[in-house]
Amino acid sequence: MVNTTNIATNILKKYTLCNRCLARQSSRKILRNTKKVKNECYICNGFMHRINDLLELTCIALKEYRYKTFLIGAIFPFSMLEHEDEIRAKFKIRGIENVKSYLTKELGKRLGKKTGKNVDYGKPDVTVNIDLIKNSATVRSRAIFLVGRYLKHMRGLSQKQERCSICAGKGCFQCDNTGLSGFDSIEGIIVKKLIDSFKCESAKFAWVGSEDKNSLVLNEGRPFFVKVINPKLRFVKPRSVTKNGIQIRFLKNIERLPVRPPKFRIKVKLLIEYECEITNTCLEKLNDLNNTQVKFSGKRGNEISKNIYKINANIVKNTLKILMVIDSGLLIKQFVSGDGMTPNISQIIGCKATCRSFDILNVKFID
Ligand SMILES: [Zn+2]
Ligand SMILES: [Zn+2]
Repeated sequence: MVNTTNIATNILKKYTLCNRCLARQSSRKILRNTKKVKNECYICNGFMHRINDLLELTCIALKEYRYKTFLIGAIFPFSMLEHEDEIRAKFKIRGIENVKSYLTKELGKRLGKKTGKNVDYGKPDVTVNIDLIKNSATVRSRAIFLVGRYLKHMRGLSQKQERCSICAGKGCFQCDNTGLSGFDSIEGIIVKKLIDSFKCESAKFAWVGSEDKNSLVLNEGRPFFVKVINPKLRFVKPRSVTKNGIQIRFLKNIERLPVRPPKFRIKVKLLIEYECEITNTCLEKLNDLNNTQVKFSGKRGNEISKNIYKINANIVKNTLKILMVIDSGLLIKQFVSGDGMTPNISQIIGCKATCRSFDILNVKFID
């Protein structure tokens, strides 16, 4: 068996090490080190004596964050790891915690003691990154995922917000890191609410389909999934937003954004203008589209087919009004005008038809 005290003595004959760095090499509790060293330690260069300074730096960085669990990471000067490796190679020391892991663990212990929060290696609420070279600490918090629904009772508001013209959505000083051009869309209003509630940086959406600027979204509304990025507050529930004919509800927290786009059916109301007489025979043909597949080619030239589950067509004040339940992904305006779709409405009525508006009456997920 190797005598650990002997190793320590032998190391000290060649190197100046602080108590903690020496104790680590002999895997014992901190040894009494006869030499007085502070900033001269060959491995840590004095950082072991400055753990409390690093702790303070960490606390300042965390000041605005609310969390229950944390993790500390660090960027170290390469020489620190290299010097420790050099000593370990020389004295054949193996399998012992290195300076980086020791220091971050020690810092974690002290932070835990000071704040009453716990270290979590798997899914910490916040991750602090200490940079020993720059003497700085930065914090990132774990994203929060939500599902919600929105309703639109007034026409004229876009679903998506245009990206910031300076950074094209990456996030910059001009847009306060949101990547957005403003907050005057459904997306913008939701992001603004999330920033107010979570003090987050930005948000990323997974939409469940889209509608026109001039569409209404009624009844239960359209669902959306959103990732709240770098939230400073996390134990809050954003309230519903009701403003200018818009209603947004945040329903519940989820684990992540959907991996692939969810499948759903929508019920829509179309108002269509046309350039000819629509006979009763035409109307019958339209109503016969119940349980029909509409075929068109996709971006890669592949054939796509979407179902019409229900359809009801009639003429109201010289306007063709259609109610239908369809698969997500059936492009409504093209289905009316006829662009590459079979069957389509223009073809059935025998003249050019244009979709004046379409409103979303229901959005329902299917498994
Ligand atoms: Zn040291
Ligand atoms: Zn920007």
